[in-house]
Amino acid sequence: MSEVLVLIDHADGEVKKPTYELLTIAKRLGEPSAVFIGSGDHGAGVAEKVKKYGAEKVYVVDDAQIKGYLVAPKAEALQQLVEKTSPAAVLIPSTIEGKEVAGRLAIKIGSGLITDAVDVDGEGVTTQSVFAGSYTVTAKVTTGTPVITVKPNSATPEEAEGAAAVEEFAATVSESAKKAQIVASQPRKSSGRPELTEAAIVVAGGRGTGGDFEPVEKLADSLGAAVGASRAAVDSGWIAHSFQIGQTGKTVSPQLYVAAGISGAIQHRAGMQTSKTIVAVNKDEEAPIFELVDFGVVGDLKTVLPAAADKVTER
Ligand code: FAD
Repeated sequence: MSEVLVLIDHADGEVKKPTYELLTIAKRLGEPSAVFIGSGDHGAGVAEKVKKYGAEKVYVVDDAQIKGYLVAPKAEALQQLVEKTSPAAVLIPSTIEGKEVAGRLAIKIGSGLITDAVDVDGEGVTTQSVFAGSYTVTAKVTTGTPVITVKPNSATPEEAEGAAAVEEFAATVSESAKKAQIVASQPRKSSGRPELTEAAIVVAGGRGTGGDFEPVEKLADSLGAAVGASRAAVDSGWIAHSFQIGQTGKTVSPQLYVAAGISGAIQHRAGMQTSKTIVAVNKDEEAPIFELVDFGVVGDLKTVLPAAADKVTER
């Protein structure tokens, strides 16, 4: 069975959930091999984690020339791994960096590229949701080794014991790939809340908050949830863009999504409509968000959210 390369999404060896989703998808296509580009000190710990999701091999690429630069050296390392392993496909998380690596890789190996897939079947046929979810496109790479980026929350990670045999891979990095060096990197201050795209529960606030996210945060904290936002809230400068959900923000698919003071524009729906249970709190009973909810509360979020948070905390 051919290998399927999966680029591990991690922060200093802390493996992110989309990696497990990609490994689950990779199993449909062949034998998953995870690729870890980072410090070799984290190699064994990372291997232990990806082993539980079926990784048969873990290629560890630990090279200061790759870690110290932006995406181009990573694409070169992957190109060399593709040449060595002739995989059935390369799966990469649909992050900003992941998509750039994928684009460069596809050019280098002369392959077709599909980005932002929300599903990949065992034949390599991908599904993409385009135009804010109005159309579903199915596509398949017809040239070379398929390079596919997959959006977070596109699959439920399935546990499957793999061998996770660690293999060091020494890549050669060309001078032309070293044009943009990382000067400094600083971890973002942790809010103590789960990462938005990985959270099981998301409480999101929109223009209806009037800029006061306290009720949203209070409910989120009582539920152990991540905080999200609509673009209107982000554009108003009330919250950072990294919290934005929707067509031009993040895609989430939690077990429970609470939309507070969000009208339900199509561009917002594009980022949350696959959530398993959707609850909306809106003072306008005609708000379009109520068309897609499982539970709706017509009321002022400033009173409904704190009351709900108190009930949750009481339990
Ligand atoms: P509004 O539409 O103004 O809705 C506010 C809601 O709050 C209303 O329904 C109101 O009844 C309710 N409300 C007011 N006060 C209260 C209260 N006290 N209690 C309860 N309810 C209250 N939007 C995104 O979200 N994400 C995207 O990624 C995104 N990408 C876009 C890309 C493009 C190309 C374009 C053109 C637009 C995009 N938008 C996106 C914007 C989108 O069209 C909407 O403008 C935006 O989602 C509206 O945000 P909102 O629901 O918070 O605000």
